[in-house]
Amino acid sequence: MLSKRSSLLLMARSFSWNSWVPRKVNICAWRVFLNHLPTRANLMHRGIQVQNPCCAFCEVHLESTNHCFFSCPKIEILWLKIWDWWKASGSFNPSLEDILKKIVGFSEDKKVSKIFHAVSMIVIWHVWTWRNKIIHAASIEEANSARHEDNFSTVQRLSLLWIFSRAPFRSHSWDSWVRQPYDLGVS
Ligand SMILES: [Zn+2]
Repeated sequence: MLSKRSSLLLMARSFSWNSWVPRKVNICAWRVFLNHLPTRANLMHRGIQVQNPCCAFCEVHLESTNHCFFSCPKIEILWLKIWDWWKASGSFNPSLEDILKKIVGFSEDKKVSKIFHAVSMIVIWHVWTWRNKIIHAASIEEANSARHEDNFSTVQRLSLLWIFSRAPFRSHSWDSWVRQPYDLGVS
C-alpha cells in the first residue's frame, strides 16, 4: 500500500505543467488535478458545514470538482465552444483528467498541442475565478449578471495575452487567433 506522500508523488508525475501560462493558472489546474480545491462537495467531505451544496453555475447539481470544471451543462457549453474554435473533430471527447494530463491527442504538432493545453488550463483557471465571482457577489442581481458573462471571449483574450507573452514565437493577431488559433504560420 502506498503512503499518501508516495501516491501524491506518483500523481505529480502524471500532471502536465505548462510553461506558457502564468504560475497561478498552473497551480489552480494542479489543485483541480489533486481534487484539493474547496468545492462545496470537498468542503462537505471535510466535515465543513455548507449552506448550499449546489453548483454556482447551474444551481442544480452538487458542486463536485468534475461537475464544476467539466460536466456542468453551463461549463460543457464553454468547452464545446473552445473545441469548436479549435476545429476539433466530432469524436474529440476528452475527460477532465485527460485534459489535465495532456493526453488529449489533439494535434501531432507539439507546439499546437502545447498551446491547446495552455488554453484548456486557462479555461480551468477562469471557471474557478468565475465561480468565485458568482458566489462572492454582493447581491443576487450581481450574481445573476456574473452568471451571464461571456466567458468564451474572456478565455480567448486571456489566452492570447498570456500564451504569446511566454511562447518563443511571434504572436497571433487577434483576428487570426480567433479564426485559426492552431495555425502558427498566420499572423
Ligand atoms: Zn452545475
